[in-house]
Amino acid sequence: MLYEDARKALLKCVLRLCQKGLVQFNSGNISVRVSEEHLVITPTGISYDEMSEEDLVVIDLNGSLVEGKHKPSSETPMHATIYKNIHDVKAVAHTHSPYALAFATVGKSIPVISTEGLAVRGPIPVADYACPGTAAQGWAAIKAMKGPPPVMGTLLKNHGVLVTGGNLSHAYSIACRIEMAAKVFFLALQIGEPDILTDDQIKEIRSVYLRK
Ligand SMILES: [Zn+2]
Repeated sequence: MLYEDARKALLKCVLRLCQKGLVQFNSGNISVRVSEEHLVITPTGISYDEMSEEDLVVIDLNGSLVEGKHKPSSETPMHATIYKNIHDVKAVAHTHSPYALAFATVGKSIPVISTEGLAVRGPIPVADYACPGTAAQGWAAIKAMKGPPPVMGTLLKNHGVLVTGGNLSHAYSIACRIEMAAKVFFLALQIGEPDILTDDQIKEIRSVYLRK
């Protein structure tokens, strides 16, 4: 079986996302770049609580099957488009986390109102609508993440969340922080009009964090 360590790490990441309620049953999908031309990705149609390392699928950057007994995720064209066009991305997580998805359905981006909001290094944008399961969804996400400012994740209009990372645990933590940022923003809106951190305040916070 190819890429056993990557399979192990990917399954662990999926199960953690599942425990956190960011993905459920077989919604969402995760992938990791394992070589210049290969990715490991979750399969389509298998519930996460029944998934094993052998169920994960190895594909190339065109989405063609390299090794696996199942079909790769239905969102393979989106993942492949991201890896092909943003070369430093090593992991991609796509969730349907509920607070973030709610903002994605109304097309409202999430401003930086607390440190949680720095999850993607700036306001969390909303990508233009594209049909789920298409490369167009990947292109819409790339356009949204380009900024300015360039960010590491985006809401997918009427669909969910897309996160890129330098590795799986990086993508996992960004996905968690996006959901927390969405939840905090939602709660703040019930109380009043939240103050949005200015660019200078964000710069200062980042300089303090980076020093540590
Ligand atoms: Zn989806």
